[in-house]
Amino acid sequence: MNTAITNSDPQPMIRVNAVSKSFGSNQVLRDISFDVNEGEVVVLIGPSGSGKSTLLRCINFLEEFQSGQILVDGEAVGYSQTGPGGRGRQTESSIAHLRTKAGMVFQNYNLFPHKTAIENVMMGPILVNKESKAAARAHAVELLEKVGLGDRANHFPSQLSGGQQQRVAIARALAMRPKVMLFDEVTSALDPELVDEVLKTLRDLSKEGMTMIIVTHEMQFAKDVADRLLFFYQGAIIEDGPPADVFANPKTDRFRAFVKRFQ
Ligand code: ADP
Ligand code: MG
Repeated sequence: MNTAITNSDPQPMIRVNAVSKSFGSNQVLRDISFDVNEGEVVVLIGPSGSGKSTLLRCINFLEEFQSGQILVDGEAVGYSQTGPGGRGRQTESSIAHLRTKAGMVFQNYNLFPHKTAIENVMMGPILVNKESKAAARAHAVELLEKVGLGDRANHFPSQLSGGQQQRVAIARALAMRPKVMLFDEVTSALDPELVDEVLKTLRDLSKEGMTMIIVTHEMQFAKDVADRLLFFYQGAIIEDGPPADVFANPKTDRFRAFVKRFQ
């Protein structure tokens, strides 16, 4: 029997391996494992409180976890305190470097209110990536055009709709030239008529081959865009597969009950 490991699989862009996390006695992630390959779009769905945001925050090093390992582009961006994947604490500067690998956009876009759209997009590259102002500006112009806001570069956040602000937030994350993008319910705070323009931006990014993990309650979007759907329930992944398969043949009643609410 040939048991040799043929290492022909490409390295995944994101590897989440046996990650568990608790807040005090509340275990919110239970032995989570999955890989995301380059260019793949993984959509996470699940009830409120099931651990979706916590997982994204672990991937982007905003939270510590107790066991397991997370790699982005081959580098450990998360560390466990005690588990076998633990590497001990990383320095502030290495954390800043690792965070640039994953861009994250939240429900509340949190743009700097006293800076224009283009200034919001230019800040990170200048301050963190040490880009020249001219280079940062040229890239910001390109990104604002990409998200359909080329004509809004000099507007302040208060002069933009929620959907436009969220698109600036996406451009701002892209300006750091991340390897992956993490989106946490980016349309949940928007008026319904503004949701589609933001989802279109995500669709465009997916077509360009961006590796993404998207938390959303937009089921049709999930079906259209996801290469893979993960259903979270109480900190565990209880459905995992191409969305067409999961929706057609769910393994759990919990998934059926959850999606019924969106029909
Ligand atoms: P979701 O994004 O799926 O709604 P979260 O990841 O936000 O879920 O939350 C998962 C669980 O972790 C919830 O029980 C929540 O109350 C808890 N939790 C999240 N953040 C914290 C925190 N900073 N401190 C304590 N508990 C937290
Ligand atoms: Mg959440």
